[in-house]
Order: sequence, then structure tokens, then C-alpha cells
Amino acid sequence: MAITTFEGKTAFITGGASGIGLGIAKILVERGAQVVLADLRQDHIDDALASFAGGDKSNAVSALQLDVTNREAYREAAQRMQDEFGGVDILVNNAGVGPEGPVLEATYADYDFGFGVNVGGVINGFVEFLPQMIAHGRGGHIVSTASLAAEVVMPSFMAIYGASKAAVCHYCEAVKPELAEKNIGVSILLPGPVKSNIHETQQNRPTHLVEGSGYQASEKKLSRRIVGDNWMEPEEAGRLVADGILADQTYIVTHGFYKDGMRARAEAVLA
Ligand code: NAD
Repeated sequence: MAITTFEGKTAFITGGASGIGLGIAKILVERGAQVVLADLRQDHIDDALASFAGGDKSNAVSALQLDVTNREAYREAAQRMQDEFGGVDILVNNAGVGPEGPVLEATYADYDFGFGVNVGGVINGFVEFLPQMIAHGRGGHIVSTASLAAEVVMPSFMAIYGASKAAVCHYCEAVKPELAEKNIGVSILLPGPVKSNIHETQQNRPTHLVEGSGYQASEKKLSRRIVGDNWMEPEEAGRLVADGILADQTYIVTHGFYKDGMRARAEAVLA
């Protein structure tokens, strides 16, 4: 097992300044890791760092602004991790966007946005950090956040999102055996509904879910009817992730029952 304790380990969490990423960060810090939050949004970073301020582990957290789709910036961030921390032990590829909207109106910009962040961002993480993890020789663990929407074929308004997350699952499962030989574990987080900003501020698909378009409100209502009242706190998801890393679990599922029930529920709501 590559990771047997979080004490003395360094974790790099993309999308780490909000929602699930921040929940994971809180638990890893609590369990002894040094955590770097990498996030696109400086306002999220400021709020996230403020939430650690004054705590006895506030020195265990720092942050950097990063767009995971920017390969050059990602390379610089990885180099900085090498220079400042002697490399990363745990990578959490968590940054993601929810590009939902009517599929027949989707443009290339929508596809580029959804796949660029949700798939490209994950791949960039592997490409930039794997050589470092192999070179430092300590082994490590890579968790990538997909979604239960990857496992259940969702209504077409979530086609881009679901397909991008399914790609993450396939890729991670495919590389897991080879990376195990390098002492690097691979896990896929499949969250059901977890309280976060994604549902409130939506990093919207470029063309459709603009505030005030009317579609956003109805889509949100629909999502709520499908997922119901089963919202999980981000720290609870963080605890499952921490335990999943130690167990080198391939799939870390937050809401087990959704796997079987969500499609039926979606169909019932849409009927
Ligand atoms: P969130 O919006 O609260 O957090 C996502 C964070 O990622 C934000 O701080 C955002 O600034 C950052 N981000 C967005 N684009 C980025 C980029 N290009 N580069 C770097 N950072 C970027 O949402 P969340 O719900 O915590 O989402 C985390 C992950 O969980 C996503 O991959 C999402 O698809 C997945 N997910 C969430 C849920 C849920 O119910 N919350 C369910 C299934 C999957």
C-alpha cells in the first residue's frame, strides 16, 4: 500500500478551495497532511484559507491559483511543489464543472469546456505529477473526482457532464494496475449530491446556463427532484476519501444506493 498514514505527506488538491475539495482538504489536514489548495478562483481561495485561520493546523494549508486546463501553468505548479515540498504524495484531481443544458443546443464551446476541465484537467494532473511521484520514490496516491452521473446514464441535459466523468473512470481504472507496480494507488471518487458551490453558482456551460436564461432555474429544480434530500456534507465525503486512500479503494462511492436508484428516479421525474 502506497499510503499508510497522512502524517508527513503532502497533498495537492485541485478545486480544493470549495465544496468537496475543501472537505477533503479539511480531513487530510486533520489527519496530519500538509495540503496545497489549487483553485481557479481567488475568492474561493481567500475564503478557504480564512476557514483554516486561527486553527492549530493553519500552517498545514497553503494555496495557489491554477487553471487545471492550462498545461504550462500546471507544469509550473508541479515544479513549485517539487521545490517547496520535495514533491507530492497525494494528488486529488477534483476540479470540475457542471456543464448542463439542452444537448441539441450545445456548441463546440460547451463540449470544450466540459471535457477540457473534467477530463483534460485530470489528465494534466497525471501527466505533471506522475514523473515526480515516481522520481521521489515514496510512492503515492491519485484520487480523481468523477460522479455517480458517470455510472448512471443521465437525462440528456447532463450528457456532456456524464460522458466527461465516465471518461475519468475509464482512464483511472485502466492505469491503476500499471501504477500499482510503481507503488502509486489510484482511486475514483463517485459523489452523489454533496453540498457545494457547483449547484449554487454553477460554473456554467458557456452558452446556456447563464443567469436569468430561465433554463438554469428549471434545470436546478429538476436536479433537486432527482437527487432529493440526500445532500452530504463535504467533510463527510472527505472522510470517505481519506479512508479510501488508505484502503487503495478503486471506487469511493458517497451514496451507494444511488447507483441503482438514480436512473429510475430520473426517468420517473422526467416522465
Ligand atoms: P464546487 O464548485 O464547490 O468546487 C469546485 C472548485 O473547482 C471551485 O472552487 C472552482 O473554482 C474550482 N475550479 C473550477 N474550474 C477549475 C479549473 N479550471 N481549474 C482549477 N479549479 C477549478 O463544486 P464541487 O461540487 O465541490 O465539485 C468538486 C468535484 O465534484 C467536481 O469535479 C464535480 O464535478 C464533482 N461532483 C460534485 C457533486 C456534488 O453534488 N457536489 C456530485 C458529483 C460530482
